[in-house]
Order: sequence, then structure tokens, then C-alpha cells
Amino acid sequence: MGDGVSMSESGWCVSGRTKVLAVFGCPVEHSLSPAMHNAAIRALGLDYVYVPFRVEPDELPQAVAGLRSMRFAGVNLTIPLKERAVDLVDELSDEAARIGAVNTLWFREGRLVGDSTDGPGFLRSLESAVEGIPESALILGAGGSARAVCHALAGRGVTLAIANRTMARAESLAGELPGDGVRVVPWTDDDLRSACAEVGLVVNCTSVGMTPNIGGSPLPPGCLKTGQLIYDLIYSPPETRLLKEARECGAVAMNGVLMLVHQGACSFELWTGVRPPMDVMERAVTERITVPAD
Ligand code: NAP
Repeated sequence: MGDGVSMSESGWCVSGRTKVLAVFGCPVEHSLSPAMHNAAIRALGLDYVYVPFRVEPDELPQAVAGLRSMRFAGVNLTIPLKERAVDLVDELSDEAARIGAVNTLWFREGRLVGDSTDGPGFLRSLESAVEGIPESALILGAGGSARAVCHALAGRGVTLAIANRTMARAESLAGELPGDGVRVVPWTDDDLRSACAEVGLVVNCTSVGMTPNIGGSPLPPGCLKTGQLIYDLIYSPPETRLLKEARECGAVAMNGVLMLVHQGACSFELWTGVRPPMDVMERAVTERITVPAD
């Protein structure tokens, strides 16, 4: 078997030629990326394997040195390592430099590149689900995912309102974005309600409503309306309280599964040069997301 070997499902095995992909995180035990990427690898018959590693933040420099010396083919980084990796690579992609975070490491002509596929993955997921990106959006949150989403939408000329519990973080994010179509909304019920009324798209980039705290919603009741698109980046549970309220008032509700799949697919393409089967990746993820009992 040579490079780019084809292996049948039954003959799948790891050998000395197998190229290693990995995710580093802390914690990493619950990551769905190994199941998603290994499903795509097996469906395509590629000679790769994708393995999770728990890496403490202080150990990231050693882990990156290790992936270089052990010639890993590529790595994903997840919480809380994305920002720390910026200083450990040979070059940063424009995307990673813009948002100051790295979720994908790959090699270009022997040089380690730090890239971010969260923003492109978000845009691809949005475009795969709706016809035309809405002209205005309310972004809830100002953490890592909000940064990727805001830069991606601002790059498409979307008018943005950003609301975050800690307003200074929203102001700082708004100050970095190009153009003058960005404003900051105070985190109060009245301000959130009036900001919602003005936009076609609401994106929840906070962790409010995520397992195990599934009772919470980032918005007060009565904010949403028919025809709006409510995109919650959370995928566990698959239907958050926010998305349930969206569905009940006739808005279009979308969870974070497609973003997870599309950002993963962007990384997969950087590592292998092959476009992975999206349906296989999506199934691998959805099969592993547990629906909480009522
Ligand atoms: P992060 O950088 O830690 O940011 C967390 C955000 O949530 C901050 O804006 C924080 O506000 C806000 N927040 C936390 N607790 C809150 C509360 N009780 N009330 C109001 N706001 C609160 O996290 P992240 O990486 O952006 O991730 C955020 C969510 O997106 C997570 O649920 C994550 O699983 C999801 N995500 C999904 C994907 C995907 O592919 N689908 C990708 C990335 C992230 P403060 O600034 O005030 O603390």
C-alpha cells in the first residue's frame, strides 16, 4: 500500500504508513471530532487516523513540538488552546490572524500553519441552510465563536448588532470589525427585545442553554418573530430552549451541528486535499448527540 491508499471498510487498520490527525483539548473526552473525521476517513478509504489528546494549556508548546517531530499530518485545537497556539506556529493564515485564534494546524511545504476554519465553516453552514444571508444580524456573545462569526458576517457586508453580558468585550470586538455597520447593544431585556425586532438573523454565540444547563436562554421571552432565522451554535442539546421558542413562534431554528461539520470539513480539506462526504460527517455527529429526557 502506498500513499493515498484505498482500504475497504473491513480491511481498515493502522500501519506504519498511516498519517496521524489529532485534536488537542482540555477537556477533550467529549469531542465529537474523532467520530466525525474517522467516519469520513473510512468512507473515503484514506490511510489516516484521527485521535484525541488531552493537552493542558501549559503543555501546549511541548505538544506542538511533539506533533512536529512525530510528523502529524494535522491537528485541531479546541477550548482552551485556540488563542495560545497563535505564537507557536511558523505562519498564521489571514483568517487566524484576524480573529487571534487557531483551530487547525497543518503543514505547507514543511512549515506549520495556524488556521481558523470556524468563520468559513459558519458561513458555509449558513449558505447550505438558507438562500441568501440576511442583511442584518444580532450576535449574542463576544467570546471565541462570536469573534469568528462576526468577522465572517462583517466580511459579507452584514450589518451587525453585538450584545454581550460583559459589555466591554462586545465593544472591543465591535471596534475591530471593518466598516461602520456595527453597533453594541446593552445586555438588558428591553435592549435585546428591540434589537431582535430589527434583524433577520440572531446568532447565539454564548454557552447559555448548553448541556447540562439546558433551562437557560440568552434572550428574554417574546423577542422572536416569524420569518427570522435563529442560529444557535450550541449542538448539545440539539434543540435548546432558544430554538424551541424560535420554532414555536414560526421562526427558522438552526442548531450548531452544521457549523461543527462544515468547520471540520474545511480542516479535513486542508489536511488531505480531499472534500469529505458531508452526510457521513453529519450522521456521525448527530448519532452521538444525546437528547435529554423531559
Ligand atoms: P467563550 O469564548 O468561552 O465565550 C462564551 C460566551 O458566553 C461569552 O460571550 C460569555 O459572556 C457568554 N456567557 C457565558 N455564560 C453566560 C451567562 N450565564 N449569561 C450570559 N452570557 C454568558 O466560548 P465560545 O468558544 O465562544 O463558545 C460559545 C458557545 O458556542 C459554546 O456553547 C460552544 O459549544 C459553541 N460553539 C459551537 C461551535 C460549533 O461548531 N457549532 C463552535 C464554537 C463554539 P462574557 O463575555 O460576559 O463572559
